[in-house]
Amino acid sequence: MRETDPGGFAAAPRRDPAGTRSGLPEWARVLAVVAHPDDESFGLGAVLAAFASDGADVGVLCLTRGEASTLHGVPGDLGVPGDLGDLGPIRAAELAEAARMLGVEDVTLLDEPDGALDAVDPQRLATHVLAAITRFQPDGMVAFDDDGVTGHPDHAAATRCALAVAAQRGLPVLGWALPTEVASRLNAEYGAAFTGRTRDELDLTITVDRTRQRTAVGAHASQAVPGSVLWRRLELLGRSEHLHWLAPPPPPRPPGRSTGSG
Ligand SMILES: [Zn+2]
Repeated sequence: MRETDPGGFAAAPRRDPAGTRSGLPEWARVLAVVAHPDDESFGLGAVLAAFASDGADVGVLCLTRGEASTLHGVPGDLGVPGDLGDLGPIRAAELAEAARMLGVEDVTLLDEPDGALDAVDPQRLATHVLAAITRFQPDGMVAFDDDGVTGHPDHAAATRCALAVAAQRGLPVLGWALPTEVASRLNAEYGAAFTGRTRDELDLTITVDRTRQRTAVGAHASQAVPGSVLWRRLELLGRSEHLHWLAPPPPPRPPGRSTGSG
């Protein structure tokens, strides 16, 4: 199950055999597991909006309130220079609004420590993911690629716990990934630490409409600051998003064969 078109990243979207409009898997319910409010929009936004457009029910489990962000575009309520609002509640409200824009129906926001997810007991994180799966009953999950994509260790930690629980439950997991060219370009231009995947490693390339994503990004007013590397990334990706199977779905059973080994 791999895109083999040698023509580059503008390759036509690969079709699931069942045929969704987007080329994404035909999942009725999809759960995204992310570390921070804005990951669902800045990173996964176009993909989650595409799932929603396909008619899937989309849920987001966000493990932290993003209180440690160094970006702080929203003033506090004192109305004096230098007064900054408490980021926790601000980012929770931004997440709720962004989710609405993306067509995400179900948001769970937890209070694990932003910036220190990789120091949290993995069992505790797994318990959160398991609870979300039990409640939401997804057919598959979406997460940042397992290296975290942007260089933030919280992203990798969130994906690690999603994968651990998915393995227990036999759920497929798609990782949102960047092509290596895009990652390298961003690193060169911004001194960033993005990681990418080679063309062979990108299992799914879909064509996206970024309208909903851009609106959802706008809902994260404290984070979507001008000049952010985010805008350049969206420009470099154009209308394409790329995904890698972190946990592939089981192969379809050939018709007319029993499940026995015969
Ligand atoms: Zn993040």
